[in-house]
Amino acid sequence: MTLTSAPETCLVCDNAPGRALLFDGCLRQCSNCTFKWTATRGPTPTGQLYTSDYFASGGYHDYFRHTAQWRHEARRRLRWLLSATRPATLLEAGSAGGFFLEAARAAGIVVTGVEPSEACVRFAETSLGLMVRHGGFETAQLGTRVEAVCAFHVLEHVDDPRRFLDKARSALVPGGWLALEVPNVASAAARRQGRSWHGLQPEYHHWHFDRRSLQMLLTTCGFAVHRCDTVLPRHYMRLRQRIRPSAMSRIAADWMECGSLHTVQPEIGDYLRVLARRSDGGQPS
Ligand SMILES: [Zn+2]
Repeated sequence: MTLTSAPETCLVCDNAPGRALLFDGCLRQCSNCTFKWTATRGPTPTGQLYTSDYFASGGYHDYFRHTAQWRHEARRRLRWLLSATRPATLLEAGSAGGFFLEAARAAGIVVTGVEPSEACVRFAETSLGLMVRHGGFETAQLGTRVEAVCAFHVLEHVDDPRRFLDKARSALVPGGWLALEVPNVASAAARRQGRSWHGLQPEYHHWHFDRRSLQMLLTTCGFAVHRCDTVLPRHYMRLRQRIRPSAMSRIAADWMECGSLHTVQPEIGDYLRVLARRSDGGQPS
């Protein structure tokens, strides 16, 4: 097992030290801005995260058996993006099997993807007819700037979120849009489940965001936040899943925690979403 020391200073506010430990010592929390990160990384070596191994043996070992679900999620995420902007060109960082790119292409958007998993790149090219670059986003040689950069459940995996966001910014035209989704460490589920929270995944997730910390990080990386909210897992369920008995009990639990049946919540949903625009006031291009 290879263990990598967690950073001593806070990624968001550069405060040191962040000594508080949460989730049974699994996460370290900044004493200044409350941003959280995995206290001890492992067993996956740094630099090998979110690779083909992640899809072969990690949380997505059965990824390719659920294409209908990924297409459904892709359509919902695209609808969310299009509710704010209608880009002509779009780049997805960490495009996985390519289902979001497929949905965006069907909407008339010119799409490109970057994906470190060789198996996913192969699937996107051979099964979906997409052109996806194989490799890491931060080091990718990108061409013409695009009007939107998207990354769903990627930022929590990367070695350096600031480097990732700097790359996203440089890939965007001035005023271009950034769409992100990450697990919400301030969710009701995280509070309820503690150390067993599904978003914890210390082997893969380095960084744990809530609304405040994600918005702070984006602002300091040259983005202006346009919209930030959270969604419950039911948001991405297909109808056949929603009417299962287990889902019905989930509705009751959501009602108890949220006080409503809306799957979009301001703060406590499982997944944190943000739409931001490249801000060019005083920032290098
Ligand atoms: Zn901090």
